Amino acid sequence: MYYPEPITKLIDSFMKLPGIGPKTAARLAFFVLNMKEDDVLDFAKALVNAKRDLGYCSVCGHITDQDPCSICKDERRDRSIVCVVQDPKDVIAMEKMKEFNGLYHVLHGAISPMEGIGPEDINVPDLVKRLQDETIKEVILATNPNIEGEATAMYISRLLKPSGIRTTRIAHGLPVGGDLEYADEVTLSKAIEGRREL
Ligand SMILES: [Zn+2]
Repeated sequence: MYYPEPITKLIDSFMKLPGIGPKTAARLAFFVLNMKEDDVLDFAKALVNAKRDLGYCSVCGHITDQDPCSICKDERRDRSIVCVVQDPKDVIAMEKMKEFNGLYHVLHGAISPMEGIGPEDINVPDLVKRLQDETIKEVILATNPNIEGEATAMYISRLLKPSGIRTTRIAHGLPVGGDLEYADEVTLSKAIEGRREL
């Protein structure tokens, strides 16, 4: 089917989003054409502003509009414990659970020899630097329960061994191969509670 150029562009843009195929993209594009102009402008502004105003926290790597992020800045949080996750979405999943009161460290990925991703390619060097701060007593490795997540947890636990910092891994019970961000709050809370020493 042939659409006028502006619609084709809009459809192409929607197709760049995850989980959106050509049919859905066309449906969304035509939906936008029927929206009120003000609403379209608000939508466009929200996209641009989110991209422009958000960055990564220089301390923990979480997504934020201020640096350091609100979690790192919060004086009421327990600074002796750091939970290491793969993705900012995992921080949000943990925060929804409302039981973890420590700090985070976001790796932005996992070690994957198959894909040529090593520790230097993710946020591991920053973690090591951060752990020189003596207030940190425990590191919880909450990487995903799949091959890459396990390999990353293993690597970091070995790396931290000489430091004497307590290193724990979240309990299984999370669906194997699943992402942390999709775990429900009860499962996630149990996984943290049942963490074991590495
Ligand atoms: Zn932060």
